[in-house]
Amino acid sequence: MNLGKIPINKISLREVAYMLPINEVFETIQGEGIFTGVPAIFLRLQGCPIGCSWCDTKHTWNIDVANKIEINDVLAKKAESDKYTELDEAQILALFKTQQYQAKHVVITGGEPCMYDLNLLTSMLHDAGYSTQIETSGTFAVKTSLDTWVTVSPKVNMQGGYSVLTEALDRADEIKHPVAMQKHIDELDALLKQRTSEDECEVCLQPISQQARATELAMQTCIERNWRLSIQMHKYIGIE
Ligand code: SF4
Repeated sequence: MNLGKIPINKISLREVAYMLPINEVFETIQGEGIFTGVPAIFLRLQGCPIGCSWCDTKHTWNIDVANKIEINDVLAKKAESDKYTELDEAQILALFKTQQYQAKHVVITGGEPCMYDLNLLTSMLHDAGYSTQIETSGTFAVKTSLDTWVTVSPKVNMQGGYSVLTEALDRADEIKHPVAMQKHIDELDALLKQRTSEDECEVCLQPISQQARATELAMQTCIERNWRLSIQMHKYIGIE
């Protein structure tokens, strides 16, 4: 496993702060992939053009300035909504402190977080003692510090018409693939062949929507290939 990756670069490619659209920020337990069970601060960014039909965060797709609200209203959300606020990197770090979050792992998700340049944010978080992880569809170049754990959950042939990029697959520390039927395993095999990097990359299969047949297929394939099963633990125990 590549969890012990040593930070080798603290240099941000971008020094200018800018505002990131934030749909949600909350502290919970990571329920998916290699970091399942790890306490984490989730930062959910607004905006995604990929268009997965089974997306469980469709409220993050569109950015409409009419839906911009204050951070306190984001923190007070009781249900999913397309409302968001904007904070820059320093304000995000300050927010984590004022909220007195205890977790030291930050998951930047969406939406599609790689629509945004996250070099400065991830560098500042690492400097402040956090580890960082992004969850991306692999259809945008990854713009984070090199010590950010990159989880690519490849989205193939979705309505938005985006292709999974080889550079995103090469940057992946973990490929977490949604699976409902054999054709999804075949797609993953093709994506793994598309990689040009020889760096180690963990592979996790994630059954779509907790379907029993999908779970059975994912389990069998994980055993055959020595891959990991990712069951979206948070959906089974009823946490966000
Ligand atoms: Fe939803 Fe993620 Fe697909 Fe975007 S990439 S549509 S957020 S599942």
